[in-house]
Amino acid sequence: MNANTGIIFRIKQYAIHDGPGIRTTVFFKGCPLDCWWCHNPEGIRMTPETCQPAAGSGRKPEILGTRMTVEAVLAAVEKDVIFYDQSGGGVTFSGGEPLMQAEFLFALLDACRQQDIHATVDTSGYAPADIFKRALAKADRVLFDLKLVDDAAHKKFTGVSNDLILSNFRAAQASDKVQVRFPVIPGITDNPENIERLAKLAAVSGKIKRFDLLPYHRTAAAKYQRLGLVDRMNGMAAPTTEQMDMLQDRIARYGFTVRVGG
Ligand code: SF4
Repeated sequence: MNANTGIIFRIKQYAIHDGPGIRTTVFFKGCPLDCWWCHNPEGIRMTPETCQPAAGSGRKPEILGTRMTVEAVLAAVEKDVIFYDQSGGGVTFSGGEPLMQAEFLFALLDACRQQDIHATVDTSGYAPADIFKRALAKADRVLFDLKLVDDAAHKKFTGVSNDLILSNFRAAQASDKVQVRFPVIPGITDNPENIERLAKLAAVSGKIKRFDLLPYHRTAAAKYQRLGLVDRMNGMAAPTTEQMDMLQDRIARYGFTVRVGG
């Protein structure tokens, strides 16, 4: 991996949940976490992989993960500049974990700045402190995904300690670019203690204004099958609208604007 090329597994146009306005979301392949509920399991491994077609679709297997240059990604992003201008949108670099391909990400962020394209980074926060700080400085907005405050639970359900994540989050609190995203995973992240501790943590500086709730959904289950991966959520139901409403109220009490779905 270098500054000019990286591995991308999808580029999605007209995204409306990954930052302000209408956006193009660029999904980086590779993530150091392995969350049980991951909605993009095709983004976890860094290498290209084969995804079998849906049963009965008659389609051929698909290879997910393509090496792309900065110029090629930028050309795809620039196709929709007119929509960004009209809606206050831009590009979002997501994944997987974009900070895993840091030099490539930085080159893309620099290119976006030159072209005056609003750039958002969606991250788990799991990256060396210097890399995280550079991303924060170069991006226009950072969507910081917070999951579990308890370290033992974090290790169990994501495969890594949250030390680095929380330390980067504390450092990011001085910035007004940060927005929190919280995956609502029944029986794992949605217990009141975790929610209260996360909300308190995010409220410390008073600079973080948005707290988005991302409800678990079952749509990724088929992807696990097609990639030959074990789905550890094992038929878990999505949270109900009532549960999401209650959660929204609870977090709004800390002074955040809370949206469901980002
Ligand atoms: S951090 Fe995000 S992309 Fe990585 S495994 Fe967890 S949910 Fe999936």
